[in-house]
Amino acid sequence: MPSLSRPNRPRPSADDGAESAEARGLRWLLVIGAVLIALVCAIEWAQGVINAWDRWLQPAMSVLQLAYAAALARWPQHTPRLRLAAVVTFNSYLVATVLLLLFAFPPPLNQYQFLSTVYWLPLGYGTAFVFLRPRVALAVSAVIFALLFVPLGLVLASRGAAHWGPDFGSLAAVLAVAQVAYIVLLAAIATIRAGYHRAEERARLMQTLATTDPLTELPNRRAMGERLHAALAAARRHAEPVTVALIDVDHFKRINDGHGHAAGDRVLVQLGRLLAADLRASDQLGRWGGEEFLLVCGHTRSSAGIELAERLRNSVAAFAFGHGARVTVSIGVAQVESGDDADAVLARADAALYRAKDAGRNRVELANARASTGQPLEASALP
Ligand code: GH3
Ligand code: MG
Ligand code: MG
Repeated sequence: MPSLSRPNRPRPSADDGAESAEARGLRWLLVIGAVLIALVCAIEWAQGVINAWDRWLQPAMSVLQLAYAAALARWPQHTPRLRLAAVVTFNSYLVATVLLLLFAFPPPLNQYQFLSTVYWLPLGYGTAFVFLRPRVALAVSAVIFALLFVPLGLVLASRGAAHWGPDFGSLAAVLAVAQVAYIVLLAAIATIRAGYHRAEERARLMQTLATTDPLTELPNRRAMGERLHAALAAARRHAEPVTVALIDVDHFKRINDGHGHAAGDRVLVQLGRLLAADLRASDQLGRWGGEEFLLVCGHTRSSAGIELAERLRNSVAAFAFGHGARVTVSIGVAQVESGDDADAVLARADAALYRAKDAGRNRVELANARASTGQPLEASALP
């Protein structure tokens, strides 16, 4: 008995690769970050302005960024945790450096060390918003801001700015306002981006709903019409054979009348899966209407189309459908001829289907060649 476990859902779109492309991009950002940190380290070393702990910490940060990039590639299942760790590591380094400069050394404040570190704070928030979900990034940014400016504010309020040198009070105030501006801007960008992603997601869902038959989950008539047009265009371009088959359930009304409409629905679902299980990737199956399915086979001559249709007819006749009674199908097969449009080839497949019905059902019939060509393709009647 054929496997029914794989329903013929709409084929995956190219967007399925989007997440991995994004993940790859973020890994590269970590690598670029590692190179830039190494560059800063080299410049400061060459200029003789590197402080005692940065001699170790900057190379260590650079190596850590590379390690996170490698870990993300190696253990993609831990992506959220690794991203959070990378963001926290970088920001902890910045925050710890600023706090050390402010509180661990006697005055005066080393202006170069201080400013050359706070320059990078916006990058710290930026990494949070690029690597993390907007809410988490906002929380991380708020924590960074609080860790830096709450102690600074408290000391300024109690001791005054003189401790750190002239104008430090206004410098600290402007710095704090600028940090808020960066965080608000990044949060706004993240919100807009999230809205854009939601809209894209909705558009994809609408597209799926518009092209999928809700009962069988197969492509619907609209989708099959588009696929048939595309197959015809490709056939014309590359002079390749395309064959279509119309598959119609025999006496389906009797199933509905005898077993109920719900049983009829179940037969259609099972039939869709049964037919789909036997197809190649280049074959396209959809629900054409009611109890009728359309099959479009690329790279297929009528002889191979007839063979496939026979196989499908036999597997349907042999299958035990849920309601207990036997189900059969009649199939009309037509190969696309030069000059055919979709309507023409469908009309010939439909005519063949009617002949199959007239000849007693549970049959496959091949369409006659177009009258204008006068060339029948092959002997048409098959048992
Ligand atoms: P034939 O062998 O000539 O094709 O006979 P038939 O009874 O299969 O064909 P007919 O066109 O007379 O009847 C088709 C029936 O299919 C009528 C309609 O109610 C039923 N039908 C169409 N769509 C659905 C559906 O989604 N679910 C169910 N349960 N029945 C459907
Ligand atoms: Mg029917
Ligand atoms: Mg019908």
